[in-house]
This record gives sequence, structure tokens and C-alpha cells, in this order.
Amino acid sequence: MSALVLIVEDEEDLAATLEFNLRREGHATRVAPTGEAALSAVAEDPVPDLVLLDLMLPDVSGTEICRRLKQESRTRNVPIIMLTAKGEEIDRVIGLEVGADDYVVKPFSVRELMLRVRAILRRSRTGETAAPPGGERRFADLRVDAEAHRVWVGAFEVTLTALEFKLLTTLLDRKGRVQTREQLLEEVWQMPSELTTRTVDTHVKRLRQKLGHAGDYIETVRGVGYRFLDKPKEGA
Ligand code: CA
Repeated sequence: MSALVLIVEDEEDLAATLEFNLRREGHATRVAPTGEAALSAVAEDPVPDLVLLDLMLPDVSGTEICRRLKQESRTRNVPIIMLTAKGEEIDRVIGLEVGADDYVVKPFSVRELMLRVRAILRRSRTGETAAPPGGERRFADLRVDAEAHRVWVGAFEVTLTALEFKLLTTLLDRKGRVQTREQLLEEVWQMPSELTTRTVDTHVKRLRQKLGHAGDYIETVRGVGYRFLDKPKEGA
């Protein structure tokens, strides 16, 4: 199956090599030599199926582009493979977890990159989440690492109790769907729903306070329960 691949790379020779190889595999390509060109390319239709993103660009850094693409609802689900050079800030790329799906270190074998392209396209087509290891979940600037039981809002880590964590992930995993207080009691507290539902309200309130502005991602559905937003609000 052919895909549209956006190549964000300022080295002309490399961009041309990638273009040649991707086309030979039946893909359509677009090349952006700068971060700015990349951002305007993704603003056009159709949205690419995959982005190959150089880390060191002449204007905006690759990590910044990556972060922006992962923030925009339009491009959030587009897989990104970072192209980094040896000694460049690979740790930062992974450490900051800007949302890249994979990375290769230059000089890389084009054959290997093509295999990764194939794997990632297959994964995104079968609807598997391209979640990084650890079962990480993201929503706008909210990041939840289910395995490590850690939560960040932007660059700041938020300390949650085990219960608050479960409440957050339960809501997040069903985003866009209303969860009644009874459902939450059963799911999160594993309590029969005859027990007071005020417990839910108290904990949601505390969770929201801890999350700061990200607490607004959890909506109150009057008389029913709570709902994690389906997608980030415009301008958020
Ligand atoms: Ca470069």
C-alpha cells in the first residue's frame, strides 16, 4: 500500500536518496528542507502518512517540529521517524519523549530505514497505537506512563496517588465517553455502586487540582458523571 511520506531534511543528497527509495517502494513523497517548510507542508491536504524528520534543521529543531506535530490534533497520529546524527542529542529526543515513534542514527542504512518505514506504516494501518514502550498515553500536553505510574503536564511531573492515577487512566482510556459515578466507583474503587458516589466527586476534584490546567480535560457531565475530552480544545 502506498503512503505519502514527508521528508524533512536539509541535506539535499540525503533527501534525494530517501525520495528515490521511497518512490521505488511505491510511496509518494514531499520534501521540506526547513522546519518552516515542514510545518506548511503538513498544513496542506492530504496529511502525510509518515514524517521522516531530521533533528538538526537550519531553522527550527527537529524536536520542536516533532512536539508541534504531536500537539496538533490534525497531525497528532502521524508517525514520525527522527533522523539523528551520532552524538546529537539522541538522549534528549528519547528522554524528553517528544513523541517520535522511532529514530535512526546517521549514517544509517537506507535499507534498514525502509524496513522501519514499512513496519511503522503497517502498525499505523492496523490501528495499533504507535505508543512508545511503557504504554505511554498522551493527550495534548498531558502524558501518562502507565507502566511507570508517572504523569506529566508539559515538562512538569505531577504526583498522583494510586487511586487518582487509576481514575485518570480510566477516564483517559474512554475519552469522549461519559463515565457515570457508578461506573467509576466500580472500575476505579471496585466498590459496589450502592456506596456513596460523592467519593468520586471528591477524588475528581483533587485530581483536577493536581493536574492544573490539564484538569480541564476532564469535564463534568451534569447529573451523570465525568468525561475526558474527545480531543484537545482549539487553541489549547
Ligand atoms: Ca540536518
